[in-house]
Amino acid sequence: MIETRIAESLGLLWLDGGLHGDLLSLCTLGGRLSGTQSERAAVDWLEKRLADASGQAVRRHPVAYAGWRSKRCTVERIGASRADLLQAQPLVGSHVTGARGATAEVVDLGRGTPEDFAAHAAALRGRIALVRHEYMFASGHVHRRRKMQMAMDHGAVGFLIGAHLPGIGPVAGSSGRAGGPGIPGAGISHESATLLADGARARIIIEAEEGAASADNLIAEIPGETDSWVVLSAHIDGHDLAASAMDNASGLAVVLAVTRALAPLVPHFRRGLRVALFNVEEWALTGSKAYVEGLSQADRDRIVLNVNLDSVAGSTKLSALTSGFAGVEAFLSQIAASCGMPIGLHRPLMVNSDHANFAAAGIPAFRLVAGFDQPGSNLRYVLTPADTADKIAATELKAAALFTAHAVARACTASDSRAASFRGTPADAARPPS
Ligand SMILES: [Zn+2]
Repeated sequence: MIETRIAESLGLLWLDGGLHGDLLSLCTLGGRLSGTQSERAAVDWLEKRLADASGQAVRRHPVAYAGWRSKRCTVERIGASRADLLQAQPLVGSHVTGARGATAEVVDLGRGTPEDFAAHAAALRGRIALVRHEYMFASGHVHRRRKMQMAMDHGAVGFLIGAHLPGIGPVAGSSGRAGGPGIPGAGISHESATLLADGARARIIIEAEEGAASADNLIAEIPGETDSWVVLSAHIDGHDLAASAMDNASGLAVVLAVTRALAPLVPHFRRGLRVALFNVEEWALTGSKAYVEGLSQADRDRIVLNVNLDSVAGSTKLSALTSGFAGVEAFLSQIAASCGMPIGLHRPLMVNSDHANFAAAGIPAFRLVAGFDQPGSNLRYVLTPADTADKIAATELKAAALFTAHAVARACTASDSRAASFRGTPADAARPPS
């Protein structure tokens, strides 16, 4: 009986006219950088929309973080007789320089892998490290924060990251500093990186307002028949140089559609559905970290799975990053086969979205992402001014919603022994997926 009702609801999900409209509404509110009016407007809008979708009161969960608001960011190429101003975007939370800035010779590290840093180790002290942004949704990706840490470890006085594509302006991102020690860092365009790559001198000026701040996660709970839960999550915040459409208005719109579709059924499910919209994700996953840390061990034990949606449109190919949980992979393979939707699987834990904080606490968790290992897909525009709604096809959103709804409904209705299998075993996790 419940199987028939799930099938009916998921059939209707394909016709859900609100899905693409929600994406556009979120993009209209702007890039949602935490601490801005755009982010607060999105939280207000999502609170109401999630209450309507779930039929439940939405709880605001305040998260303290190191607030940071850019007042000035300039990067100049210093020539013998003139200084050329380059297009630049400060990395969120960057160390500030004061009005005089940091001036030094630029060392071009290419992509900025550990090998690149090792090869230039002797040249970096007192200089500015220049690396390149790279396609983020790929197995061999070296994260920007890791590159910045290597620059600091080698004594660099500044950090510049050039866009990987020409013609799109500078890249955005977080410094991951969270109010601690650091060096000034900024994203620049592909063309600016080329101008600086010949050993030029550069001046970075970053000024910002800093201080304690608070942003809200949003939580809604639809109880099932027992006190165990499936947590469906997506992050709210983004960057202010674009609409942050793929990353992550897509995930938010899909969470709302899945919640609308399943809300009437969840009271008949073994497990409840907890929807968690996390804030300050772009600031080193701060909102979900605070949330998971605030749960007791008993609360954590009652969560059988975290389904985290981050950048789920922009390509027709969906992948699940299964955080080392072999059992989650087996579960998702079965769903993909039963609903005829292929899914890519990548097992190593990738600390690139909120699922990582659940996984770190021992809670089975996966991230659904579009375009994994597809550097030619529209996901290449994430963190650039081109992350806009026109990069997303309505059918991509629907496919992500359908797969997610299947996964959530099956996890909510699985037997206890099936749900326990999500954790897999260390031996399973060490084995490559078949
Ligand atoms: Zn994201």
